[in-house]
Amino acid sequence: MKIMVVEDEGIIAEDVITSLQKSGYMVDHSTDGEDAWIRGDTENYDAIVLDLGLPSLDGLTILKRWRAAECTTPVIILTVRDNWTERVAGINAGADDYLTKPFVMEELLARLRAVLRRSNGHSSDMISLSSLLLDTRQQSLIIEDTTHLLTSLEYRLVSYFFHHQNRIIPGAELLDHIYGDESLSNGNALEVLVARLRRKLGKEKIKTRRGQGYWMSDTD
Ligand code: CA
Repeated sequence: MKIMVVEDEGIIAEDVITSLQKSGYMVDHSTDGEDAWIRGDTENYDAIVLDLGLPSLDGLTILKRWRAAECTTPVIILTVRDNWTERVAGINAGADDYLTKPFVMEELLARLRAVLRRSNGHSSDMISLSSLLLDTRQQSLIIEDTTHLLTSLEYRLVSYFFHHQNRIIPGAELLDHIYGDESLSNGNALEVLVARLRRKLGKEKIKTRRGQGYWMSDTD
């Protein structure tokens, strides 16, 4: 397995490269955006670890160019702590996963194994909607820097909103999706669930149109 590490900070790069090599990966190292972009475009890596802040070309631009060129190599981005907008932008640009600096190497290795496992089907486990991220693997919702675990009913509802962004969804359709054939479904149960989620997400995130249904918008 050949991995490219794109990181201009010497100490971090050295740690990452040593850990990857110890775990049996072949590692190429790039410290410059322009160079990384060209290598990612021309060489055949199994995965790329990409820092976003780089000389000559920033990581987000590189990632967008790769994805525009239909390069589907799994990419894990390294982002700065407390910068959730950067993380959302990275996921939107086609990153498969992210790590927030500082991170422990075991976590990088675990995430790398996961993206490599998934790279056949190549679908992201993260879906974004405005400033929210839904982690479909963990069934959790990341709001700014906080991870909220969801109950399975909450997850089914949120996931349906995320997959149908900006569409007003009738209550009956939501109920059908959440409860399936279970006869206990009723409008009141939906209202209770929506109220619970609004407490987690913020009141304004789930919008209501009287008599028509609920929706979540990708703009705040
Ligand atoms: Ca950097």
